[in-house]
Amino acid sequence: MSDTVLVIGGGPTGLRAAAAVAAGGARALVLEQAPVLGGKRAAMVLGPDAPDPALAAVADNPAVTWHTLARLTALAGEAGDFTATIVERPRYVTDDCTRCNHCVPVCPQVVANEYDAGLTFRKAIHSPYPTTLPDIYSIDIDSCLNGPPNYLPCQRCAEACDDDAIHFDMPAPKPRDCSVAAVVVATGFAAGSEEEGRVLAEFGYGTHPDIVSGTELQRLLEDPGPSGGFAVKPSDEGYPDAVLLVLTAVTEDVVWVATNHLRRLAAQGVGEIAVLVLAPGADDPRLAGLAAAAAECAAPLHHGGWIGAGPAAGDGLEVVCTALPGGESLHLRADLVALFTEVRPDPATQALAGLLDLQCDAQGYLTPTRPGIYVAGGASGTVGIEAGLEQAAAAAQAALQHVTAEPTEDTPETAPRESRLRQEDLEQLLHALLELGRGAAR
Ligand code: SF4
Ligand code: SF4
Repeated sequence: MSDTVLVIGGGPTGLRAAAAVAAGGARALVLEQAPVLGGKRAAMVLGPDAPDPALAAVADNPAVTWHTLARLTALAGEAGDFTATIVERPRYVTDDCTRCNHCVPVCPQVVANEYDAGLTFRKAIHSPYPTTLPDIYSIDIDSCLNGPPNYLPCQRCAEACDDDAIHFDMPAPKPRDCSVAAVVVATGFAAGSEEEGRVLAEFGYGTHPDIVSGTELQRLLEDPGPSGGFAVKPSDEGYPDAVLLVLTAVTEDVVWVATNHLRRLAAQGVGEIAVLVLAPGADDPRLAGLAAAAAECAAPLHHGGWIGAGPAAGDGLEVVCTALPGGESLHLRADLVALFTEVRPDPATQALAGLLDLQCDAQGYLTPTRPGIYVAGGASGTVGIEAGLEQAAAAAQAALQHVTAEPTEDTPETAPRESRLRQEDLEQLLHALLELGRGAAR
């Protein structure tokens, strides 16, 4: 018997599920592996038409507890009476952190910033972006000189911290068993992953800095972001006069994201925008919104078979393809080429499947085959943006059927720790996420 639904994943889909659980009168316990809530692709997940009230409901309800740097390591029992084992990693930075940033310049360890799709770099001690929840820095111990197996006595950051907020002797919390009635898996997509790079390699990704992935363009268009919300050429940080958007696959979310980017680029005044869909099917209903946006933005929409991409004679890039239909050779010039592909489930999803005793399909998406466990959003397939959020609400409703205990004032598993949602924190987070989503769609 439990009054709690476990939500695995603290991105927008997981937060939406938590909101629905709380709205249904139960408690939600959210686990997020990253040091902050929100997910890497928040802006792509929260579209302008996302039903804000459902998210706001999370902020209005105190029945949500979350843990960052946390993961599930075991799940025993059955629907209505699961025991979830949770392990948290130490952050090495305490709540005393004031975000003064004194520690970052002195840290010698530089790695690609996964929150900027690898377009920028961060230090081992960092904050992924300016408004995070929790609102403190964290140390990526895997890239820190003090991390195992090195245990080098680098204390530069601790010495620079006037607030005594860095403690490498911070113990890892002991694994904890929590009683939960049901589970919602919302681990999301693997945006900007190595897998995405591998898939896009056959379309020239990696051969020229100005051939970027859709995830990278997304990050460029976000504000705050590495280029202040404007499309720039990574090669020289100059503004592109001509941008080519290439859809290497036609799925609902690929088309949705490309359409949003097209509108955003047009709003930024990019002189020439063109779209290339690497599939026939001018009459494909999934492309209707993209075709309408292309017409509005005076952007030619081509269908073609990929031949190659490379430096153009003179300046910029040239993409060559075979026009569909017709078969004639198309030469499309651009200063910046963005390649969009299907998103993939987070790599951790496969391991999670074993842990939860669920099946994965050929693409690695989870199939909910165990009673009491539900899957929403990117973990379940290439669902569209809004559909993923709707799935989260539906999964929460299904999970609520297994909740048999009334919430108590102080349920041990979800009792307030440092991470109990403070309403003002969450409102700030949700506001930031929604603004990012709106920005992406403008
Ligand atoms: S120096 Fe200390 S207080 Fe300042 S940002 Fe770093 S950890 Fe936080
Ligand atoms: S101990 Fe050294 S390497 Fe590790 S976060 Fe601090 S400054 Fe960076």
